[in-house]
Amino acid sequence: MSFTYAPAPESREIVTLQPSYDLFVNGDFVPALSGRSFSTTNPATEEPLADVASAGPEDVDRAVAAARAAFEGPWGKMRGSERAKFLFRIARVLQERAREFAVLETLDNGKPIRESRDVDVPLAAAHFFYHAGWADKLEHAGLGPAPRPLGVAGQIIPWNFPLLMAAWKLAPALAAGNTCVLKPAETTPLSALLLARVCQEADLPPGVVNVLTGAGDTGAALVAHRGVDKIAFTGSTEVGREIARAVAGTGRRLTLELGGKGANIVFEDAPIDQAVEGIVNGIFFNQGHVCCAGSRLLAQEPIAEPLLERLRQRLDTLRLGDPLDKNTDIGAINSKDQLDKIRALADSGEKEGAGRWSPPCRLPARGYWFPPTIFTNVSQSHRIAKEEIFGPVLSVLTFRTPAEAVAKANNTPYGLSAGIWTEKGSRILWMAQQLEAGVVWANTFNRFDPASPFGGYQESGFGREGGRHGLEAYLDA
Ligand code: NAP
Ligand code: MG
Repeated sequence: MSFTYAPAPESREIVTLQPSYDLFVNGDFVPALSGRSFSTTNPATEEPLADVASAGPEDVDRAVAAARAAFEGPWGKMRGSERAKFLFRIARVLQERAREFAVLETLDNGKPIRESRDVDVPLAAAHFFYHAGWADKLEHAGLGPAPRPLGVAGQIIPWNFPLLMAAWKLAPALAAGNTCVLKPAETTPLSALLLARVCQEADLPPGVVNVLTGAGDTGAALVAHRGVDKIAFTGSTEVGREIARAVAGTGRRLTLELGGKGANIVFEDAPIDQAVEGIVNGIFFNQGHVCCAGSRLLAQEPIAEPLLERLRQRLDTLRLGDPLDKNTDIGAINSKDQLDKIRALADSGEKEGAGRWSPPCRLPARGYWFPPTIFTNVSQSHRIAKEEIFGPVLSVLTFRTPAEAVAKANNTPYGLSAGIWTEKGSRILWMAQQLEAGVVWANTFNRFDPASPFGGYQESGFGREGGRHGLEAYLDA
């Protein structure tokens, strides 16, 4: 049975949108030398939110020069304990302005306010707090007695967790003593620009953080710039490959956090209600726009049917709609392009013979929406079992033995995440050792903590973010 809820919209008054936004370079907001701009919209309504400057190669030049000067100047000379104070300040301002960040993120991205409020913003603040603690202890990170920062970091992030990915990039780089040029995604530039304001409010020295908004060509210009000592990229495997080619042979450092096709493996002895919650969280959290999503459910045969029955009942209760409504579970798809991609892959699932099911659910007339969807009778050769959909679409496969589960879970060019649901501790440990994935969750899914490293194998990329291991990407030992 599902309950009806009165709308509980979060007010958007706390956010003051500017009609247009400049680039953040050398501590100031400056118009783009390129003279170009683009518009960012609210994907839930298709309403344009603001005009945003688009950085060209000359702007990249200017930002990299500012970052270099800051690195060679005050920031590079500062003691770790002093740098830590800035990170603490940024973390605290993020907390103070949490509601504003949450509403802005939801407007620009389309994700439910419940998620931006309870996950994205608190985790972003936690990331700065955590790394503030490292800034004066780098020589105890196991990376040699006197690790040194690399210099200027060029950082490129996607649209699925715009503020959180900015925090994942900036916090460890700054703690380690680097300076940064950050390129947010074209469809979600606004929270990174508000974070730039926070850097001003925290009195961060000019040039330490620069934010260049723009599209893929801005990212490519940043990657190509020889003044950048290290590239950190989160995004698609396809673009990751291009970046790896551009950086190869230049001696510059690179970390790549790319796509995934995570297996969520449920054994017959699993706590079934918890598993259902874990499956829902694994694939429908953030509309499935999650690189480590549990997009392949592997169910042990004896429980496959009852598990699916419960899962369908649970999906019946999910509420899709206004992302600013505090009751909403499923928000908007971030862009028309992404919606088209999800539709095409879901259609391929049907054509290739899998069984498609969605709960009855009315999609709003405007905006980009896709209903939560389950595919059964999926075989390993189907595109929906192999390709990353990056949407609220679950592919269900079955297995009989643990060895078969491992073989199917590992049958992917990716290797970012996996989940195991079972009562048996020994099986969890055995499975975790066999699974080729950077993160393996047991009886839970999609849990994040700044202290624990995150990253992939194979086509999911290389390098780790978070924890002691994440510092390595920004230090020369
Ligand atoms: P994307 O197209 O690769 O974009 C990622 C970022 O790179 C964006 O800022 C994008 O700018 C920029 N970009 C595009 N072309 C570029 C180029 N030639 N050179 C340099 N930068 C370029 O990926 P997406 O579709 O936005 O994001 C979804 C992907 O990210 C998924 O595959 C997902 O799995 C992955 N992801 C991975 C992780 C992880 O930690 N492993 C986390 C989140 C997401 P524009 O936005 O302007 O195009
Ligand atoms: Mg947008």
